[in-house]
Amino acid sequence: MDVAVLTVGDELLAGDTTNTNAAWLGRRLTERGATVRRTVVVPDDVEVIAADVRELAERYDAVLVTGGLGPTHDDVTMDGVAAAFEREMGEHPDALTWFAEHGTYSRADLTEGTTHLPEGARLLPNDEGVAPGAVVENCYVLPGVPGEMKAMFERVAGEFAGETRHVEVVRADEPESALVERIEGVRERFDVTVGSYPGDGVRLKLQGSDAATVREAAEWLRERVER
Ligand code: ATP
Ligand code: MG
Repeated sequence: MDVAVLTVGDELLAGDTTNTNAAWLGRRLTERGATVRRTVVVPDDVEVIAADVRELAERYDAVLVTGGLGPTHDDVTMDGVAAAFEREMGEHPDALTWFAEHGTYSRADLTEGTTHLPEGARLLPNDEGVAPGAVVENCYVLPGVPGEMKAMFERVAGEFAGETRHVEVVRADEPESALVERIEGVRERFDVTVGSYPGDGVRLKLQGSDAATVREAAEWLRERVER
């Protein structure tokens, strides 16, 4: 499994903060058998975060992002991730439920925006702090504060394994929306995950643990898309 780590923060670039999160994640991921292919440091800038997340998520099996999760004006990471996957930001039902059940904070006490996550994200509760993390497709968004980041990573550590993932890419010269049923079809018939990356046509990335299955799935799909 090939992963990238994207650390966000002007203070990291300026050298005010040492990037211990990158080192710690690199170690933990490698320990688990995943291969860290890139570690990137970017400023607190929505456009830059969005562009890098988009590129890394397409290129690698997973991206871990840390920093800039809080609700203050300089914390723009979630907005960048939402933009990367073309999701709206909004009140997240699971985040509301989590704070209602676990919060020492009532909803009124929470800073505006704390329960806002990209639409359809999987919530990652923050056991050591407040700002929640999230998983959007293959992108894991964790806090910057090292203690919070580590605790949240351990919630998802099981998703980073050394099992060999086999990958096939199928290019389709059709709009992404037209491909929905065929993507469903291949997922029903074969034990594979399917990532869909529109751009110049659509890149469909099939992955699974069995090489023959992934190959057959790719062949099934290639016979059914326009190229
Ligand atoms: P908060 O909700 O507290 O604002 P956050 O998720 O928004 O947390 P940041 O604002 O980016 O995180 O960073 C908070 C603090 O965490 C920083 O001042 C720094 O001390 C530490 N930190 C952030 N990123 C890293 C990193 N990559 N390595 C080590 N420490 C970091
Ligand atoms: Mg912050």
